[in-house]
Amino acid sequence: MDSSIKKNITGIHHITALAGNTQDNVDFYTGVLGLRMIKKTVNFDDPGVYHLYYADGQGTPGSVLTFFPYEGIRKGTRGNGQVSTTSFSVPLESLAYWEQRFRRFGVQFDNVRERFGSEVFMAFQDKEGLGLELVFNDRDTRMPWADGPVPPSYAIRGFYGAEVLAAAFDKSAKLLTGKMDHTLVAQDGNRFRFATADSPGSYVDLLDQPKKAFGHGGYGTVHHIAFRTPGSDTQAQVREFIQRHGLHPTPVIDRQYFQSVYFREPGGVLYEIATDGPGFTVDEEMQSLGESLMLPPQYEGRRDHIEAILPEIHLDIKSYI
Ligand code: ZN
Repeated sequence: MDSSIKKNITGIHHITALAGNTQDNVDFYTGVLGLRMIKKTVNFDDPGVYHLYYADGQGTPGSVLTFFPYEGIRKGTRGNGQVSTTSFSVPLESLAYWEQRFRRFGVQFDNVRERFGSEVFMAFQDKEGLGLELVFNDRDTRMPWADGPVPPSYAIRGFYGAEVLAAAFDKSAKLLTGKMDHTLVAQDGNRFRFATADSPGSYVDLLDQPKKAFGHGGYGTVHHIAFRTPGSDTQAQVREFIQRHGLHPTPVIDRQYFQSVYFREPGGVLYEIATDGPGFTVDEEMQSLGESLMLPPQYEGRRDHIEAILPEIHLDIKSYI
């Protein structure tokens, strides 16, 4: 195979947001949304804080929403330079189910709307105001987690996409369509949709609104979005391209479950390029993912101290069935 046609970027890997209340966060994402907690670890740059990973049953890239729950931090504001909405893909026939479920658990949600002519979606928020959506569609062949509180026929398949508030639309778009392997697949008003493949899990909607204020980090906001790359060779190609364009990528950083490079794109959004491997079973068996606190080797010696600092987490899936 000609290596020049190999894609360097193949979609969204994970999205990481900030939270202010650990237990509320666990209850909402494992309980109300029915995602599987596939990893309970710490922020590798700040090990006194959890890093919680929610995903499908296996932690497939493109389904992984993660949080740094900083107890007591300030609320953030959404604005330019941020991922403003994280969209999940659910089956078309699950609409009435989710409306009823959101009413049952007191979730704030908007009326169902349409965009791009026929795309049916519902905007909602978690308890801390993080911008979320369900996109109802019949184009997603991915398997949901089968043992969660939401019946598999209605459950979340993974991400549908992400909405990015672009302060510098032209430059942000050019970066995506350059060595980041995205193409423009649709437009609706000031919403420009880019994707690595025209299927759920890889849509990045840039909203061209240069005059909007910049957002501020805090709970209820996204910290960064990670794009997936097949391996270290493709990651190195993207990194070199980014460096050549003066965007100052970090060196490759070992994140235990993937290798990462970070940089700010021209509109100020923090991007990460994360490898598909080695994945979340590198330190736990598939059937017990997320059950124990996993620490990377550099923090294992401080386990007692770290466990004493972190708040206790209760996983109570049964109340959400
Ligand atoms: Zn990340």
